[in-house]
Amino acid sequence: MNHASSSFVTPVTARPSACPGLLRIVAALDGGICRVKLPGGVLRSTEARAIAEASEQHAAGVIEVTNRANLQIRGVMAGHEAALIETLVNAGLGPTAGLIDAANYGAAVALDASTAPTASTTTTLLAASAADDVRNLMISPSAGRDPQALFDTRALAAQILALLQSEPRFAALSPKFALLLDGGEQLAMLDHPHDVWLAATAAPEGVRFAFGLAGCPPVARADDRGRNAKPGTPALAAVLPSQVPALVNALLQTFLDLAAPDDTRMRHLLAAHPVEAVLQHTQTYLDFPLNRDPALADWHRAPADASLRLGAHPQRMAGTWQAGGQPPLGRLDAATLRALATIAEDSGDATLHMTPWQSVLLPDIAAHATASVLTGLAALGLACKATQPLARLIACAGSTGCAKSQADTKADALHLAALLPTTVEQVHLSGCPRSCAAAHRAPYTLLAVAPRHYDLYRRDDDHPGFGQCVAHHLTIEQAADALARLARSPFDA
Ligand code: SF4
Repeated sequence: MNHASSSFVTPVTARPSACPGLLRIVAALDGGICRVKLPGGVLRSTEARAIAEASEQHAAGVIEVTNRANLQIRGVMAGHEAALIETLVNAGLGPTAGLIDAANYGAAVALDASTAPTASTTTTLLAASAADDVRNLMISPSAGRDPQALFDTRALAAQILALLQSEPRFAALSPKFALLLDGGEQLAMLDHPHDVWLAATAAPEGVRFAFGLAGCPPVARADDRGRNAKPGTPALAAVLPSQVPALVNALLQTFLDLAAPDDTRMRHLLAAHPVEAVLQHTQTYLDFPLNRDPALADWHRAPADASLRLGAHPQRMAGTWQAGGQPPLGRLDAATLRALATIAEDSGDATLHMTPWQSVLLPDIAAHATASVLTGLAALGLACKATQPLARLIACAGSTGCAKSQADTKADALHLAALLPTTVEQVHLSGCPRSCAAAHRAPYTLLAVAPRHYDLYRRDDDHPGFGQCVAHHLTIEQAADALARLARSPFDA
């Protein structure tokens, strides 16, 4: 079997999903949630203004940066769904242009309301919704500008995003199926597990992209107990940059060929098929050899530095800087988003880059303007220094937005911010074990067990999930004390 030059077509079957999307507004306690996927996390200032306007007109005005560098509008009002979707699509924030048109916005809502749209409308909307869902490709927020990068991933990312949206068969992928394209930047999120990861590596002949499945690129670092660890899934092979889109296509086609109906993620597939069999099947879609290189088994990526998302740092291009800050608990209001758009227009390249740390980065700032940009970000309430408590706290929606939550995690996180010692690394407050605010394992997690009470977990590579539970049923004051003790001595709680 060789699919490299043939068209391999199977019927489109979109998987049902409870995840919010642009065309799938999901109900929450505080109203509907509409998620806007941003290619590479990039939002133009005009798009930012459109989102700000839409969030005020059709929702509660609360905008969240997600841990996949997207935005979501909370509190969408009943009866406003179609108008909200129309505004966002007209602003260029939907999937590939042409898949949806104005005539179908009302039908989109009809689909959600379980009324009876026509068959052709349903088909069009399923295709558009699937094309929206599948846009799950993460790149560094400083792609193309990071001085440490081995490769500018932006053009490749655009090719992969076009592929994901244009191949009808990929509509069957889960909305959670996700890819990482890592150019070797120093500012990079490497802790999120991805179904497929690709990472630039410097070979004697030039840059190659190593890839692995169901995990993260391996990174050499000391673990939380000071031991040398190399978490991540090993690289399987490496390809030329020009071969990356074909490889992505082959891996995704292979997943769809081999996955059982309930296998939604690559880890499910690997539980049932040896990786060698998956690679052999992948090879049938490729017109170049996928050679296993034993040397790649020990390959690891250089460590990244998440603190570069905060403050001002020089870019690859001489004389230009990027500056960033963390909105409190990842939330912005419409006025703040408009003000950020104005700063980006006045001092940057008129774009805002969302990051997977739920922060905002503004690129292409002239050296002389960095101080005023940082002053502007701070005036808007963004934390621009790693020592600020709100740069080290994340929290899910909590009980004001989610029926599953055992506590008001947002309010409790703000309470903790006033008590958090500067020595404590990132703390994640989660209303339940689903961990919506963090796709990675935070150094410390407070898992709500009752209103204003939490179990405390410490990240530990020997324990799955949030890590090792080191204290139970703590109040926020008790949690602050325990975190201070742990920061002094990691074995003390
Ligand atoms: S982590 Fe749990 S409580 Fe928090 S938003 Fe997600 S589902 Fe709701």
